[in-house]
Amino acid sequence: MKRKLFISGSWVGAEHYAPLSSPYNKKVIAEIPIASEADVEKAIEAAHNAFLKMAKMPKHERGHILEKLVMLLDKRKEEAAEIIAKEAAKPIKTALEEVQRTIQTYKFSAEEAKRIHGEALSLDAAPGGENRTAYTVREPIGVIGAITPFNFPMNLVAHKVGPAIASGNTIVLKPASQTPLSAFFIAELLQEAGLPDGALNVVTGSGSIVGKKIVEDERVKMITFTGSPQVGKEIRNKAGLKRVTLELGSNSALIVDEGIDVKSIIPRCVKGAFSNQGQVCISLQRIYVHEHVYDEFVNAFVKESEKLTTGDPLDFQTDVSALISEHDVIRVISWIEEAKKTGAIVATGGNAKGNIVEPTVLLNTKPDMKVSCQEIFGPVVLIEKVSSIEQAVEYVNDSRYGLQAGIYTKNIHHALYAAEELKVGGVMINDIPTFRVDHMPYGGVKESGMGREGIKYAIEEMTELKLVVINRQV
Ligand code: NAP
Repeated sequence: MKRKLFISGSWVGAEHYAPLSSPYNKKVIAEIPIASEADVEKAIEAAHNAFLKMAKMPKHERGHILEKLVMLLDKRKEEAAEIIAKEAAKPIKTALEEVQRTIQTYKFSAEEAKRIHGEALSLDAAPGGENRTAYTVREPIGVIGAITPFNFPMNLVAHKVGPAIASGNTIVLKPASQTPLSAFFIAELLQEAGLPDGALNVVTGSGSIVGKKIVEDERVKMITFTGSPQVGKEIRNKAGLKRVTLELGSNSALIVDEGIDVKSIIPRCVKGAFSNQGQVCISLQRIYVHEHVYDEFVNAFVKESEKLTTGDPLDFQTDVSALISEHDVIRVISWIEEAKKTGAIVATGGNAKGNIVEPTVLLNTKPDMKVSCQEIFGPVVLIEKVSSIEQAVEYVNDSRYGLQAGIYTKNIHHALYAAEELKVGGVMINDIPTFRVDHMPYGGVKESGMGREGIKYAIEEMTELKLVVINRQV
């Protein structure tokens, strides 16, 4: 089926189209328009023209549109999950979880729309500030360019579109080329929910043409990007004076301290490593386990991993399905092979069947192996032995990334030590680094990015703080 671009409230065709195929069975799902520069220009112009209307719209109206979207999405959640499963090969039960989270994200956006405010200041705290009343307000900044990845095609769009609408901005959205259907679906629902024409525009096509035009256009005041560090850096270099939020990758780690009841945490750790085939920015990639519980942990982890069912993303039994592309299958397998050649041991998995990589557990790895120091973005996890909490923290921090980290411990001193010393955006105590609910501040340090999402925090990034000072003695 031929799809259309969404510009200024209308569905418009493009000059060129590309087939979109299922990552699982290669069947063509849809024909996707490839936006030209002229199409992107129209989308930016539409967003620019719609800005005043959105900025002046009362907050309760913005909230109401988002509430309506929540209602519409809730009614069609099975359909939404099927779209994600088809275009991203996300197992359907995981896709349903994503839809539930997307609903939450828009719910929080509807609520936050009504509580955007500044603060009153005491200017007389400084000599010369007497007899003045001062307050701040938060104003929308204008057109927001949103560029999103393939791995959470609905909820990561929501993390940009929700707060942008809540705060009175307009959006030009470029979804990942492999997962445009989720973005079109949300545009359809928002139109039905009464969003003014031009407030959201969806343009599909290659990152290097469509993305580049959005990043370089002067009318776009902010870029909110989620994706790989490589593209993130390129965007940062091209964005000039625009505000930029970058939510990038990581090789997230977990510490398991001695004294932990290993059996009770294994199912959660396995889910953290292999959910969505490990294609999660906070997927559990490195596990550092205290030597006293190491053997028990490895045995139980391998046993649990081997219970996972691989297969068709549309089958409710499937836990692990295809990686997003053949190229990624080849890359992941070659990293495993490279690790094996330099001493790593494959405790389970290590092979691919078609585009499905088996859930893989590696032992005896070294920090400079690609499987350890780079983001693998596949169903591969390594488990290494440590003898102290200090050593474990050192290993976790030995990374160019810093998104989230986890520690399971019964020792309060170890928990607080980890909270203080881990160089990441979020520390999860007695949980895996993969924990996220959608209103918490979320983002990374180092090459994991800059800025924070989580509705309230994204709204701060998407608004300008304006100061008003009233001199009462004139
Ligand atoms: P990606 O290759 O960086 O692509 C992300 C988006 O950027 C896509 O829409 C892509 O378009 C576009 N793009 C590509 N080149 C561009 C350019 N030169 N200028 C502007 N836009 C460009 O990432 P991905 O493979 O889709 O996603 C995986 C990455 O995202 C991983 O590193 C993962 O950790 C990260 N991620 C981070 C978070 C977080 O919150 N921190 C969440 C999820 C994922 P095309 O698809 O057309 O190339």
